[in-house]
Amino acid sequence: MALAKRPPPDLFKLATNAWTQPFWDAAAQHRLVVAQCGTCGTCRMPPTPFCPACQSQQIDWKTLSGLGEIYTYTIVDRAILPGMADHLPYVPAVITLEGGGGVRLISNVVDVALAELAIGMPVQVVWDDLREGVAVPRFRPYIA
Ligand SMILES: [Zn+2]
Repeated sequence: MALAKRPPPDLFKLATNAWTQPFWDAAAQHRLVVAQCGTCGTCRMPPTPFCPACQSQQIDWKTLSGLGEIYTYTIVDRAILPGMADHLPYVPAVITLEGGGGVRLISNVVDVALAELAIGMPVQVVWDDLREGVAVPRFRPYIA
């Protein structure tokens, strides 16, 4: 049975700005955080400059449990770029984050048999340390 692998690490290009850097600083410490409005409490992802609910620029960084569930996913099983063949299949997915007020994160589901993938599957974060100071959150099946 085919297991979901990780996409090629060199495909991951990290470009941050003042609004996203705190997310990646926390990730480097293996903490999954979400931007929460410091005025009204609405969570948002990505961490945009203005709260979509009240336009405040106050942000609190809330540490999440790292649990979530698969909102949707797809299976990549064709090498659309050179060097991808050894990384197939992999599974880009949208993850609804527990405690995140409904926000979702685009990530990958790894270490799962493709036949077991399902919308709503409980998952937990795992951290891929790609290089010094850069860790990327991925998700694997969560078994309580
Ligand atoms: Zn707000």
